[in-house]
Amino acid sequence: MQYHVNGTLVPAEEASVSVRDRGFMYGDAGFETLRAYGGTIFEWDAHADRLQATCEALSIDHGIGDDLKRRIDETLEANDLRDAYVKCSITRGVQPGKLTPGPADNPTVVVVASELPRGGENGESVWNAPASAELVETRRVPDHSLPAHAKTHNYLNGILARLETDADEALMLDSEGSLAEGATSNLFFVREGVLHTPSLSGPILPGITREVVLGLAEEMQIPVRTGRYRPADLRRADEAFLTNTTWEVRPVGRLDDSAFEIGTVTRELAAAFAALVEARHY
Ligand code: PLP
Repeated sequence: MQYHVNGTLVPAEEASVSVRDRGFMYGDAGFETLRAYGGTIFEWDAHADRLQATCEALSIDHGIGDDLKRRIDETLEANDLRDAYVKCSITRGVQPGKLTPGPADNPTVVVVASELPRGGENGESVWNAPASAELVETRRVPDHSLPAHAKTHNYLNGILARLETDADEALMLDSEGSLAEGATSNLFFVREGVLHTPSLSGPILPGITREVVLGLAEEMQIPVRTGRYRPADLRRADEAFLTNTTWEVRPVGRLDDSAFEIGTVTRELAAAFAALVEARHY
């Protein structure tokens, strides 16, 4: 396996960054988790835009531009990967040991990838085993003034949430007690045929899978509402699912101690997602 580190492909076991890197020292970095299907990146433009927005929120003026895509493609090619998980990180780099950042004129840019096969013959998600989910105490709060919209190296919120539970996903509320999102996923639920998901006005990551699913729902004429919801809204839902780049559309089979049916809307959206991937990438 080879990874891309600062513009060079290196064997995975030799890939390293400095202990003085600000990404390591302070979490001073942004990242994206991406998915390749059939050798090409799914929703590249959306991921590139979100990474750019994250770097702008952090004032990491990295100047990498289109070269990041080239590095990702090179990583896939060097490892002969077609269906893959890809993670790329941009840190402010190594700078003199003080918190105040200087210009990011020497950022650290890392691309790692590994095989992530697609699911069954009927195009199900690889992760379509229903997830258990638990509502946890840890609140989804943005870090300081940084919007939750930025995908930075500071994942302690999600880590604390996952530490609270053995469930596959830890669901967090925001500081006002409204449903926010999972540690690494967005939440959807269905009640009486209407698809609901917490709105982007709350502290949640604008998931790229979330956006694709909302587009599919519109095409399929499934009524959609976004808003602020309480835990009780989720508890009385008919079905629920989680979305992220690696899970795609993953049904929730259990919430806390109650079982959830995998409902029709979840199945239809998962199938539509798989069909979209098939049509675009194979
Ligand atoms: N919310 C959080 C906190 C995440 O970390 C992620 C993905 O890692 C998501 C939502 C889903 O985002 P995406 O669909 O872009 O993978």
